[in-house]
Formats: sequence, C-alpha cells, structure tokens
Amino acid sequence: MRLLEEKILSDGEAISKEVLKVDAFLNHQIDSKLMFEIGKEFAKLFANEEITKIVTIESSGIAPAVMTGLQLNVPVIFARKQKSLTLNEALLTTSVHSFTKNVTNNISISKKYLNDNDKILIIDDFLANGQAALGLVDLIHQANATVVGIGILIEKSFQSGAQKLKDLGLRVESLARIESLENGVVNFISEKVE
Ligand code: 5GP
Repeated sequence: MRLLEEKILSDGEAISKEVLKVDAFLNHQIDSKLMFEIGKEFAKLFANEEITKIVTIESSGIAPAVMTGLQLNVPVIFARKQKSLTLNEALLTTSVHSFTKNVTNNISISKKYLNDNDKILIIDDFLANGQAALGLVDLIHQANATVVGIGILIEKSFQSGAQKLKDLGLRVESLARIESLENGVVNFISEKVE
C-alpha cells in the first residue's frame, strides 16, 4: 500500500537492522486518517470472506483493527496482555513471546466473545517471527472458531513469521513488506502491479 510505504519512509526510523520504530504514526502518536485508509484496504481485501469478528492484540493493533471493523461492520476484540480485575469470566489463554520487549506474556480473551460460528480476521501492526499472530490463532482455535485471514500493516519479510503462517495454510495480507533495514535504510519488496 503506497500510502503506508510513504509514511514509513518519511516518519519511520530503522533503529537497528531488525527493528523499525513507527511511534510517529502507529505505536505512540496515531495517524487517524492513515488508519482509516488502512481499514478500507483490509475491508476490500477480505470483502468476500464473510468475516464476523476481528481479533487483535493490545495496544497497537487496536487502531487499524477498529477502522477495519468499522468498514466491515463487525465487532473488534483485542487480546489482553495483563489480567484485568474486571475480567472475571472464563478466559482463553496462551503465552506469547514479545520480539521487541523480549518477555513472555500470557494473553487472553474472554470466552464469551468468541464462538464456533465465528469467522475471524486477525489484524496486527507488525509481523516479525509470528509469535503474536500464532498466539491469536491459538486463542481462536481454542474457541473452535475459524481464522479466515491475517492482515498485517508492516511485515518484516526477512524474519520468519509470514512463512510460518503461510505454512499453516493461513492467508496473510501485508500492506507493506520490508526486505531489509540495513544501515538505517528501509527497503520494500516491490508491490504487485495492480
Ligand atoms: P512477532 O510476534 O511476529 O515476532 O512480532 C510482532 C509483534 O512484535 C508486533 O505485535 C509488534 O508489537 C512487535 N514488533 C515486532 N517487530 C517490530 C518492529 O520492528 N517495530 C515495532 N515497533 N514493533 C515490532
């Protein structure tokens, strides 16, 4: 998606050859117009999938997930990383190792928001080694719901996540695919000609 690639080039910062900082428009300050356009793009890509709900993980997946939910007219559920005091009902839980923070968190979703008729679109900000997405797939499968696809804003294609998810037969749609972050320079895998 050209708009997202342009934003990454103008406001993103390759802080190492593995990590891209996007606090200026996604992970701290949020560019709401860009998120709106991203929501429209995902809605277009997954228009024929009869999606019933979107699942993401707090906190940076929430903005693009809500914009997509708005377009598809479906609710959005975000997996929580910390147990909330008010979250006293039965939980689906799994553990996820965080690539950027190097910690393992339990993430959870209340059982009452997912059921076996659900066709779920997963949305997340980044795809690196796939741990966050695989954790969400696990929670959705625990509820016997179906994962119809995974929408990612920024895929770092030089890491293993996209391949792992595709090997499981999952449809992955990434709006920007990064080939490398060497020497502070962001290189994209060129977009398919439309
Ligand atoms: P994975 O679970 O695929 O290894 O990593 C994805 C998660 O780690 C995302 O939800 C995102 O929060 C974080 N992440 C991974 N790589 C990056 C990165 O280069 N920059 C930022 N800002 N977050 C990242």
